[in-house]
Amino acid sequence: MDEYAANTNLCLWCNNAAIGSHGGCYHHDPDYEDLRSARASTAAKSKGNAELRKLKAEVREIITDLRSGALDRNVGTSMLQGYRVLRDLIELERRIKETDELAVDIATIKELVE
Ligand SMILES: [Zn+2]
Repeated sequence: MDEYAANTNLCLWCNNAAIGSHGGCYHHDPDYEDLRSARASTAAKSKGNAELRKLKAEVREIITDLRSGALDRNVGTSMLQGYRVLRDLIELERRIKETDELAVDIATIKELVE
C-alpha cells in the first residue's frame, strides 16, 4: 500500500485509511453501511442458531433420559424449567439486539439528513 496516500487520506472519524466516497473507512463510511449491517446480522444469526441447536440437543437428551427412567422425574422437571428460563432470556437478548440495531440505523439516517 502507498504510505503517502494512506497518511493523507485518513477517515474523518478515526485514524484508519479513508476508502469510501464520504471520506470514511470501512467502519465509518456510509458506502459500507449495508455491507456492515449484513455482516453483523449474519454473525448474530449464526451465533444464535448455534446456541439454539445446542439447547435443543440438551433438552432432547433430558426427554430421552426421562423416558428411559435414567433421570429422576423431579430432577428432569426442574431441569426443563431451567431451560424455559434460558429460552426467555435468549428471546429477551434477541429483542435488545434488534432495538440496538434499530438505534444505530436511526442515528445513521439522522446523520445523513442533517
Ligand atoms: Zn473510520
